[in-house]
Amino acid sequence: MKSSRIPGFYNKTIQERREILRNLNSFNEEEIIALDSNQSLPVELADKMIENVVGTYPLPLGLGLNFLINGKDYVIPMAIEEPSVVASASFMAKIIRDAGGFKTESTGRTMIGQIQVVGCADFQLAKETLLNHKEALIEACNISYPSIVKRGGGAKDMDIRILNETSESKYEQMLVLHMYIDTCDAMGANIINTMVESIAPTVEELANGKVYLRILSNYADRSVAKATCVIPPHLLVGDGYSGEEVRDGIVHAYEFAASDPYRAVTHNKGIMNGIDPVVIATGNDWRAVEAGAHAYAARSGVYTSMTTWFIDEVGNLVGELELPMSIGTVGGATRVHPMAKLSLEILGTESAEELAQIIVAVGLAQNLGALKALVTDGIQKGHMALHSRSVAVAAGATGEMIDMIAEQLVEEREIRVGRAKELVEQYTK
Ligand code: NDP
Repeated sequence: MKSSRIPGFYNKTIQERREILRNLNSFNEEEIIALDSNQSLPVELADKMIENVVGTYPLPLGLGLNFLINGKDYVIPMAIEEPSVVASASFMAKIIRDAGGFKTESTGRTMIGQIQVVGCADFQLAKETLLNHKEALIEACNISYPSIVKRGGGAKDMDIRILNETSESKYEQMLVLHMYIDTCDAMGANIINTMVESIAPTVEELANGKVYLRILSNYADRSVAKATCVIPPHLLVGDGYSGEEVRDGIVHAYEFAASDPYRAVTHNKGIMNGIDPVVIATGNDWRAVEAGAHAYAARSGVYTSMTTWFIDEVGNLVGELELPMSIGTVGGATRVHPMAKLSLEILGTESAEELAQIIVAVGLAQNLGALKALVTDGIQKGHMALHSRSVAVAAGATGEMIDMIAEQLVEEREIRVGRAKELVEQYTK
């Protein structure tokens, strides 16, 4: 079985790293050609993906290492422009690996399609009539998309809600039909939209109203993935801090995010620092994942922390992250973008349920990394050191000068573009 534990990976050259990746996955030269910037997304292919194409916009792709999830090793492709995220995820994954790894689970792949009906003569009667035709409506959805049924998915259940029922409501009353659809390994937007559009005329007739919207909901609260880690305090020791001190600090930091939206937004942004790069690398729709994740963080009515951190009865630090994951391993760009195809191969999964669980594990690791830094040395020490190379480039450094100037900035503890510009001038004189 392949291991994601690759000591010293960060010190290797890009060529050496590619060679390790190639051997790890038994890729041939052709398979990893997408890693070459000219091949990662040919502009002719980009032109088929969106409109008005004039070029492509590459991001760095790094590998998150050390991930052990449900006893299986994963190398995690992460597409992101922000320094320190990949390093932090890998470092935290190592700590969690030493504690036995992540445990993950999920609720399955049920996505939601919505149909909005307004102007019903009698909303209660419309609701009853639609519910009486539930089986026929489910069947009609499935007839409109037989291939997903053949895969074991399709529409499975249906529900009706009436919104703005009371006279105090600011908005007009409306009926909303929810179709619950198993989209198998697809994110499912097109499957769902096809299904709900196909039954809209029947719904309109049965409800004796007017149908307007027919579209999926990105609030995929029936497609939830959860990751857990349990860390003994001795694994949190470091930089002059005891494990108990770090553990307690992390719980205090969590309680801050849990009780204050100003903190929760930043706390959750750090979680999305781990989630988005994997969603992007695998060609998934990160806007859908972002929207669903933040809505889920506000499901109690108050926006709060996406993660939970507490101390168990024997003193271990326990972290949990549970989020809706509207992602797929087929459909959309997942099998079109060469980098997305390669990323899925690196991950070694074709299952959307497995991918969803990997993604929340990375989010949990990232949150641990941010909290651990925040409750000890602060975020800047590690972050700015890794940021120094970008600062040097922003100041105009090229070639060997980049690392030389970056090192000097770190040494001087002055990681600023202004200082980097002075150094560039000195070196180029
Ligand atoms: P697609 O319609 O591109 O692809 C899904 C298709 O893949 C299925 O219909 C099925 O077709 C095929 N397939 C092959 N293997 C499997 C499998 N194991 N499980 C399921 N399907 C399989 O993708 P989606 O419907 O997932 O749409 C996702 C895209 O929609 C995203 O790119 C997103 O950006 C976009 N989108 C998002 C919206 C939103 O979030 N609000 C709105 C509209 C679009 P077959 O059975 O025929 O082989």
